[in-house]
Amino acid sequence: MPTQEEKIFAKNFDINKLPDVPPGLTPPPKLRRTRAVSKNDAPDHTQGNIYSGAYVAGVDDSTVKLENFYESFKVNVISCTETDMEFDMIGIDASLANAFRRILIAELPSMAIEKVLIANNTSVIIDEVLAHRMGLIPIAVDPRLFEYLSENNQPNEKNTIVFKLHVKCPKGVSRLNVLTNELKWLPHGSEFLKESGGSTSKPKTYTSFNQSQDSFPEFADNPITPTHPDILIAKLSPGQEIELEAHAVKGIGKTHAKWSPVGTAWYRMLPEVVLLEEVEDELAERLVNVCPQNVFDIEDMGKGRKRATVAQPRKCTLCRECERDDDLAHRVDLRSVKDHFIFKIESTGSLPPDVLFTEAVKILEAKCETVLAEFS
Ligand code: SF4
Repeated sequence: MPTQEEKIFAKNFDINKLPDVPPGLTPPPKLRRTRAVSKNDAPDHTQGNIYSGAYVAGVDDSTVKLENFYESFKVNVISCTETDMEFDMIGIDASLANAFRRILIAELPSMAIEKVLIANNTSVIIDEVLAHRMGLIPIAVDPRLFEYLSENNQPNEKNTIVFKLHVKCPKGVSRLNVLTNELKWLPHGSEFLKESGGSTSKPKTYTSFNQSQDSFPEFADNPITPTHPDILIAKLSPGQEIELEAHAVKGIGKTHAKWSPVGTAWYRMLPEVVLLEEVEDELAERLVNVCPQNVFDIEDMGKGRKRATVAQPRKCTLCRECERDDDLAHRVDLRSVKDHFIFKIESTGSLPPDVLFTEAVKILEAKCETVLAEFS
């Protein structure tokens, strides 16, 4: 049985306070658990280990506890514009960060052109390629205002957006660029006649709109357009003409990349650059010059002496240039913090990136609820 003294010692034990642990350095067990280390041949300690029971027998208890998660989880927004957002997600496992990335790319809906009805195309771009190009044009509209078009549904004002494109290059003009600003929204739906409705009924078109979309409050003063007015669709020579209708519907990136609402969503672990010993004078200059990201700086120590300091570790791209120099390799340690992710979202323009992220959180929440419902 341990004595009372031994119990108190065990309770207050801190590996960082042992005399043979160098001050300021993370001790090995904690290092293995919290940092991936970049080595010359390959990275080390890369596996994630945030799961119940991990390192429970070690000095450093890292068992998964909900209250620890509440305490440690943080989101810090670094920058946010209409299209781009950078934020730090701290205190989660890579599997969760990756889940958000995958949901953003493949499971969040957007509106994209799915059907192109070509009445005339005398350009050099064949119909299929033209239709494919049209599909990739991002559309600035909130997909949450629309429903999915199922096989049994008719295209209507709640599930389809119709654009018209009719451009002809006049004679005497050398070349005409057809840009996305030529796409005109048809709030009443298709204008192409499908079949004659007879002399008594209205002629049928390729959509069945009961109401004009510009009567919806969301679109009354806000016409639907492509996100960018200057994307090149085709080039026409004199006399060439394109006349078509493009029908956009709601979909997700898992079906086709054109529905992905992000140009990209990606993350990297926070880099941590540690100088294991002082790097001074000529070697300090060499270290500063070898780094293409200006991670290091020189500190003047007086009397002509100088030493290297780590000024901007976040800028490190782990290119390992500083480890290729034999004199520097053993003095610099390159690490990545395993539960700190620098996350970037680039929206294609349908929704701002911060809204996209909150929508991704809702999808993950719904998935968790489905799993819990299955288990209960
Ligand atoms: S890995 Fe590359 S970017 Fe990072 S500190 Fe070394 S030289 Fe600079």
